Amino acid sequence: MQKSDIAEMDGTGMKKTDKKILMMLTVAITTVVVVVMLVRSTKAFEVFLDDRPVGIVDSQSTFTDLLESIRKSAEMRYGTDVFVASRIDFKEVYLPDSGRILDAASEQSVSQVRDSVLLEAKVFAINVDGEDIACFRDRASAEQVLERIKAPYLQDAESGAVTGFVETVCIKERVVRESELTELSDPDEVYDDLMQENETIKKYIVQKGDTVSEIAERLGVSIKDIEKANPGIDIDRISIGQELNLSVPRYRINVMQTRTTVYEAPAAYSVEYEETDELYRGETRVKVEGEEGTKLVKACYISINGYPEETRILDETIIREPKKAIVLKGTKPRPRTMAYGEFYWPSRGRITSRYGPRWGEKHSGVDIAAPKGSPIKAADGGVVKFAGWSGNYGRLVIINHENGYTTYYGHCNTIKVKVGQRVARGDVIATVGETGRATGPHLHFEVRKNGVPVNPLNYIK
Ligand SMILES: [Zn+2]
Repeated sequence: MQKSDIAEMDGTGMKKTDKKILMMLTVAITTVVVVVMLVRSTKAFEVFLDDRPVGIVDSQSTFTDLLESIRKSAEMRYGTDVFVASRIDFKEVYLPDSGRILDAASEQSVSQVRDSVLLEAKVFAINVDGEDIACFRDRASAEQVLERIKAPYLQDAESGAVTGFVETVCIKERVVRESELTELSDPDEVYDDLMQENETIKKYIVQKGDTVSEIAERLGVSIKDIEKANPGIDIDRISIGQELNLSVPRYRINVMQTRTTVYEAPAAYSVEYEETDELYRGETRVKVEGEEGTKLVKACYISINGYPEETRILDETIIREPKKAIVLKGTKPRPRTMAYGEFYWPSRGRITSRYGPRWGEKHSGVDIAAPKGSPIKAADGGVVKFAGWSGNYGRLVIINHENGYTTYYGHCNTIKVKVGQRVARGDVIATVGETGRATGPHLHFEVRKNGVPVNPLNYIK
């Protein structure tokens, strides 16, 4: 035994060194146990929302409960389904920083999570031709706006009418971020916006001398559109001060009504022509009278915003056949001297006196002033009925046009035809003079219908 060993022995018989080691071991084991127990009792989770740390919780359910209450209060607030859109990750931690521990009961913790979480909500959009024009928190609000637009037309709708929209209009479910929820539309404002007409120039007050075709041309609208915009008004009988619509109202969404009806209508007959040499060219005569039949018409009336827009004939069925008409058409060459039924000017010159009252009498023709000796031509074909002197007429030619009309040529200087002679339109029958009761050389020209003088100016072409 060495000296040092003896010196360190104690009463228990153990060496002093061994005792020290034992003590250290005990302390170490105790420490480990305590630490392990400590760590175990403070195991926790750090929470990440979209990779951003938001705090620490003792259990995952604590956090999901907290989120659920945030989600529910958002649903209450927005009145629509709300979803958590953030990705949630948990990471186990030991000996957490007590300052970052989240507590569902603490307002600060709640608002901390509220600020970090991304919420999304379900909204309802009115979609017109593929474009969302307004978003609402619930489907009912969107439906209500559309029903309100239709309502006035439903009231006056005729039975069987189907009311819809011109545009493709539907309500679409959309999911939007919470930040977009603040931009949700107010149904009343949306309705008011949709009621704004697209065009502004709409009315016109009829002025003195206006006709619809003039108004249409001046204002660059079509007569058809004016007619369409003024249902129930006869646009050919407009009066001063009357208000006309120049266009039909058009909106972002337009209400269309369609109504299909079936009715009976006359079916037109066709006409067949048969040539005949019994008639002159240009003449026709009905050989067999046509007769209208009856057809069943299926039509669809379309109105837009209450204004008639279009009638579509969907189907036509003949229920009683029409009877074809047969008309004879002349092929016989026309004699030169045959009347056409229209008068040409018999002489060149200035009209010095018109048909009608004159000097307390009635002037039975027109006076055409021309130099003495100017040619007078037959106004139409016919046969000379009179050629000679006749009182106030002086030298007079009368032509019978064999169609109920006769023409008179008075105050002639010379006469170039004889009674019974046939003349063609344009043949020279006399020359201008001042025979009879005349002041200065002129032609007195008369047209008589069944012997009664009529205003020649209404018959001359
Ligand atoms: Zn006269």
